Amino acid sequence: MSEQFQQRLALEQDLRCAIANKEFFLLFQPQIASGQIFAVEALLRWQHPTQGTLLPGAFIAIAEETNLISKISSWVLEESLRTLAKLRVQHNELHVSVNISAHELVSPAQLTHSVQTSLQRYQLPGEALELELTESVFWEHPETAATLIQGWKDQGIRLAIDDFGTGFSSLSYLLNLPIDTLKIDRTFVDSIHTSPRKQGIVKTILALSENLNASCIAEGVETREQLTCLSQLGCRKMQGWLLSKPMKASALEGFINQNGIPQVQMTLSIENS
Ligand code: C2E
Ligand code: MG
Ligand code: MG
Repeated sequence: MSEQFQQRLALEQDLRCAIANKEFFLLFQPQIASGQIFAVEALLRWQHPTQGTLLPGAFIAIAEETNLISKISSWVLEESLRTLAKLRVQHNELHVSVNISAHELVSPAQLTHSVQTSLQRYQLPGEALELELTESVFWEHPETAATLIQGWKDQGIRLAIDDFGTGFSSLSYLLNLPIDTLKIDRTFVDSIHTSPRKQGIVKTILALSENLNASCIAEGVETREQLTCLSQLGCRKMQGWLLSKPMKASALEGFINQNGIPQVQMTLSIENS
């Protein structure tokens, strides 16, 4: 067996024990509009016993191939909503965004069950939760996606299209689906201020979201130049390291209550100028 294959196998074995061993944790990245945090995105991390902290890119694909993704996702939903319930005691308007893998739509019963159980357990309304799907689900599982999404909508759960513009981008799925948010992928945000073509694409996505009655958020905002350019194009909602890096749940309350976040004030001053 190649060394690479053995490493993959070992990681798979470790992944099987990771939930029971409480090795997963979540970071939360604020989403900001007009200087205010309106939501947080839950981002999964794995504290591997020997390899340190692993990013989702190192293990989500293995979790999908081994069908462990559903269990992991249940844990993520539960932990995200538990954290949100605590935050909403003081900040009732916040919601949490949770990434859902296209693979979970293969047999969605577990996903449906996890969403309902966690919302009920923390006595949260559907609108406290936004589920982030990538465009791939709409051509990989068109019928399941339509049924599931309608069910979520009936409960008030929000739906976001993650990494918008990087997938198949068949606009036909937008015809019938009640989408709440388009997330402009980082590809278009990166060096946007020096690229008229990227600005053109972002303007088009903003117009599209407005015409669909959906909101639009730019991902991966890292520099002041990007933020200024996005603001000038009319993008009000942003997420990225410039505004805040993902953080542990314990740091969120302090971040939200802090009134002097320089980047947040900066967003406000640019928007008001
Ligand atoms: P995503 O949902 O598009 O999340 C955005 C990614 O960009 C995150 O990487 C985040 O840490 C990173 N990021 C945020 N702001 C910036 C920035 O300003 N600059 C740069 N360069 N990066 C930024 P992360 O945490 O490594 O997650 C990668 C992907 O893994 C996510 O992309 C999502 O597709 C997936 N993922 C994360 N958590 C989960 C989960 O709980 N379940 C599933 N199924 N997938 C997850
Ligand atoms: Mg996401
Ligand atoms: Mg994304």
